[in-house]
Amino acid sequence: MNYFSSNFKLGILGGGQLGKMLLNDTRKFDIYTCVLDSSNEAPCKIASNEFHLGDLMDFDAVYNFGKQVDVLTIEIENVNVDALEALEKEGIKVYPASKTLRTIQNKARQKLFYTDNNLPTSPFTRFAYTTEVKEAIDHGSLTVPFVWKSAQFGYDGQGVKIVKSVSDLDGLPNVECIAEELVPFKNELAVIVARTLSGESKNFPVVEMEFHPEANQVEYVICPARIPEDVAQKAIDVALRTSEAFNHVGLLAVEMFQTQNDEILINEVAPRPHNSGHQSIEASYTSQFEQHLRAILDLPLGRTDSKVGGVMVNLVGAEGYSGNVVYENISAIMGLDGVTPHIYGKKQTRPFRKMGHVTIVDQDINMARTIAEEVKSTIKVISE
Ligand code: ADP
Repeated sequence: MNYFSSNFKLGILGGGQLGKMLLNDTRKFDIYTCVLDSSNEAPCKIASNEFHLGDLMDFDAVYNFGKQVDVLTIEIENVNVDALEALEKEGIKVYPASKTLRTIQNKARQKLFYTDNNLPTSPFTRFAYTTEVKEAIDHGSLTVPFVWKSAQFGYDGQGVKIVKSVSDLDGLPNVECIAEELVPFKNELAVIVARTLSGESKNFPVVEMEFHPEANQVEYVICPARIPEDVAQKAIDVALRTSEAFNHVGLLAVEMFQTQNDEILINEVAPRPHNSGHQSIEASYTSQFEQHLRAILDLPLGRTDSKVGGVMVNLVGAEGYSGNVVYENISAIMGLDGVTPHIYGKKQTRPFRKMGHVTIVDQDINMARTIAEEVKSTIKVISE
C-alpha cells in the first residue's frame, strides 16, 4: 500500500500531546491524518489534516470516525472498544487490536493476562468493590501493606493508593479494584517494543523512571538506565515476551519494577507511544513516534539505539497556579547545553497537568541528569 503523499488515511483516536508528537512524523512522511478528540483545544488540532470533534468513549463517534480511515491507531487507551471491534470486523486495520485494549483497560484483566502467559508480575487479588477489600482485611485474608488500584480509568497514579493501614482506604471510590503486593523496588524501568504485522520486533534501550513522590507522575526518564547489563537484558527479554504474548502491532511500552533481588516484575503496559520514550526524539536514531508509524504500517522498523545519553523532564503545572499558562525562565534553560523544550500547546495550566517536557542530551548520562536537575529547578509552569 502507498502511504506517502497518497489517498491513504491514518486515523488517530485522541488529540493530546502524544498525538501531536506523532503528527510531526506523519508530516515528515506526508501521511494524511484524521484525529478524533472531544476538546476543540486539543494539542493535535493544528497539525492534523482533519480534526473531528467527538467523545472517544461513545460507540457512534468512534465507529463513524473509524469508517472513514484505512488504519486506526490510538494515543490514549480509554476509547470505545466495542466500536473498534465492529470496525475490525468490517476490515479496518486497528492497531492496537480491540482485544488487546480490552485486556489492558482493566487492571485485573491485565494482571491475569500476565499470570496466564507466565509473565512475571506481583501477586494480586481482584475485588468487585473496595468495601470487599475492607472485609478481607477484617477476616485476615488480606494484610497491609498493599497497593490498591482501581481496575478501570486509572491514569498517572490517579487510581493508585499505597495502603499501610485500613484507614487509608477511606475516601477511595467503591469500585472494582485489585489489591497488589507492595514491591519494595530498587528501580522503575521501562522498555518500549515495536512490533509489526509481519512479526519484526525491535526494542528501545531500557530506561529508568524517577517518580515525583506526591503526584505519582514520572519526574525524570533516564536513557540508558544506570543498571547492570544482565538486569537490562532481563528487562528487555520480559518486554519482548510481553509484546509477543499480546501478538502486538505497534508500540508497547512495558513498565517494570527491578526488585531488591534484581528480579523483573511487570507493573503495567501502554499499547502506544509513551512518556518513557520522549527522549528518543533527540537521543535516538529513530524516535518512538516514527517507530510507531513504521510498525502500524508494516514498514521496516528503524534503528533503536541511542546517538547520545538522554534525560527527559516532565513539565507539569506548578502547585498553586491555574489559568493561562506562562513558561517562566524557558529562555534560561534553553541556554544550557543539550536542552530542548517541547511545549504541548495546552493554553490552561493547573497543578500537575502535563504541559510539556524537556529533553537533555549529553554523551555522559550523569552530566545529562545533573543538567536535568538544573532545568527542573529553573523552569516553572505558572499562570499569568
Ligand atoms: P497508573 O496506571 O496510574 O500509571 P501505576 O499502576 O503505574 O498507575 O502505579 C503508579 C505508581 O505507583 C508506580 O509507578 C509505582 O511508583 C507505584 N506502584 C504501583 N504498583 C506498585 C506496587 N505493586 N508496589 C510498589 N509501588 C507500586
